[in-house]
Amino acid sequence: MKFLLKTALAGVFTFAAGGALAADCEVNVDSTDQMRFDTDAISIPASCESFTVNLTHSGSIAANIMGHNWVLTKTAELQALAQEGMSAGIENNYLPPDDARVIAATKIIGGGESTSVTFDVAALNPEEDYSFFCSFPGHYALMKGTVTID
Ligand code: ZN
Repeated sequence: MKFLLKTALAGVFTFAAGGALAADCEVNVDSTDQMRFDTDAISIPASCESFTVNLTHSGSIAANIMGHNWVLTKTAELQALAQEGMSAGIENNYLPPDDARVIAATKIIGGGESTSVTFDVAALNPEEDYSFFCSFPGHYALMKGTVTID
């Protein structure tokens, strides 16, 4: 009986390890009425051709008051981009239009809404420091994190 149990457990672990090995080329990120993302670090497998971020807003406050988006940029450019984005207005998702510093970005969403963005991984440099943030005015101080290509 002991032997059988061990064998069964080994089977479970083998299955779990196999699943983890397959490159997961998307991530789910939730945002809240408390002005937070549920993660502060996203790892993109270098083997992915493209990567998708699925953003949800599990709160209930409207986009014009507690809106959130997910923006990918170089860490060194985050602060300037966030500050310039404030004056771009919600109609531009609080980002300067056609700005090369924006590598990828979703639209601004409110409570109960969801959105996603897909971008090319080959365009990213594994040696570069990338970050994600929310460009809604005042949010980037709390709503940001690192993005690494591994
Ligand atoms: Zn936000």
